[in-house]
Amino acid sequence: MQQEMRQAVANAFQQLLSEKHLYQYVEVDTSLISTVAKTIHSGMRPAILSTGRMIKRSTLEDAEAYCRGKTTVIWHPSGVITNGIPGFDAGFDPLEFELPTINTFCNVCQQRPPFNPVPESSFWVCGAGQDEFFYLGYRCQQCKGQPIRFLVRREGLKLRLAGRYPLEVLPTPKVLPKGVSKYFGNALIAHHAGQTLAGLFLLRVFIEQFWRTVPAVQKLIAEKPRANGDEQGDAYQSVLPLDFKSRFPSLKDVYGNLSAAIHAADENAVLFDDSCAKIVEHFEARRLYKI
Ligand SMILES: [Zn+2]
Repeated sequence: MQQEMRQAVANAFQQLLSEKHLYQYVEVDTSLISTVAKTIHSGMRPAILSTGRMIKRSTLEDAEAYCRGKTTVIWHPSGVITNGIPGFDAGFDPLEFELPTINTFCNVCQQRPPFNPVPESSFWVCGAGQDEFFYLGYRCQQCKGQPIRFLVRREGLKLRLAGRYPLEVLPTPKVLPKGVSKYFGNALIAHHAGQTLAGLFLLRVFIEQFWRTVPAVQKLIAEKPRANGDEQGDAYQSVLPLDFKSRFPSLKDVYGNLSAAIHAADENAVLFDDSCAKIVEHFEARRLYKI
């Protein structure tokens, strides 16, 4: 059971640090318990009493309870600094596990290469019960630069990404106009951190700020400074080829749907993903049409 739990905890850390964003969590997979409990139970020899009667030592439920008990111990990453934590050597019998290799975005390499754990510059803080904090250093295998620092919190079987330094940069699609693509990138960060409404707002800002770079929209604003989004959208549409408009997603439609969600305070994750996809498709089509 120890070995299986070690692996399950390491897998959860790998999934959390490679795939999840700020404040998201993963749960350690304990589906192995019933299989392991069956193995333990079937391996138990029956005891023979002095009367000659044979009894099973334990029930399958007991074996499962034993295995479940193994999930509630303290989890300690091998090699990570635990100095100054009273009682660590004396009373605890933690589950030692190896920190996994992960993949995350490297600001230097501008890619997602593998990162190795740096246990000697990682720290572990243990509160009451299963309230643990892991402050972990991870170094890029390619550039071997300054380690990225992660803060992970354990609550029961959950591991939550509580912090990351430096902040994860989410590369924006290259097809988006450089001057305004930061709004798109910030929208992704907000959405991944659970602030989808702010993400929807930033997508709308992205569209507005892009429109303001288009001469037809600039002309409209010069004549009518308070022109609203619909009017700006119309001015933008007026300069697109007919064929383009019939074949590709319209920024004006995306803008309208975003506005409706913002006014209704609708944290609509499906709309967020759909809007991102349509925006990217729109700009890919602009490139295709050499607009
Ligand atoms: Zn790197």
